[in-house]
Amino acid sequence: MREENCIFCKIANGEIPSATVYEDENFRAILDLNPASKGHTIILPKNHFKDVCELDENTSAAVLPVAARIGAAMKASLGCTGFNLVQNNGASAGQTVFHFHMHVIPRYEDGPAMVTWEQHQSEAEELQQTATQIKNNL
Ligand code: 5GP
Ligand code: ZN
Repeated sequence: MREENCIFCKIANGEIPSATVYEDENFRAILDLNPASKGHTIILPKNHFKDVCELDENTSAAVLPVAARIGAAMKASLGCTGFNLVQNNGASAGQTVFHFHMHVIPRYEDGPAMVTWEQHQSEAEELQQTATQIKNNL
């Protein structure tokens, strides 16, 4: 399940060299070319899935334990004290490479703010309406 001309298919399957931090039968995890912080890693499935909605159950179930192991190894080796898991789906959400990947971003004390958003007030009625809209489409 590879896609022609997909850069992450090529990297995940070793056709293009990368700074690999982890590899198993399902995934290759590599250092991001443009890191948000030292050690910023992206986990790539070896099979091609456009985004989380296309991911098969085995790959979905396997990705979080890999992310947790990598995050723990970052804390043990790089001196970060936390990490963010970030996973973008769709261009409006910031996805730029359309082969599923999960970011593992080390966070350091006094490091720059990231993965933040503006918070807004909401009304209980509006929350209920929105919840119903989503629920009716599951
Ligand atoms: P997205 O914005 O799609 O969630 O994340 C794509 C990420 O892949 C970006 O952080 C970008 O820096 C990284 N990236 C894009 N092309 C390459 C590449 O060829 N090699 C590596 N190591 N990272 C890449
Ligand atoms: Zn791909």
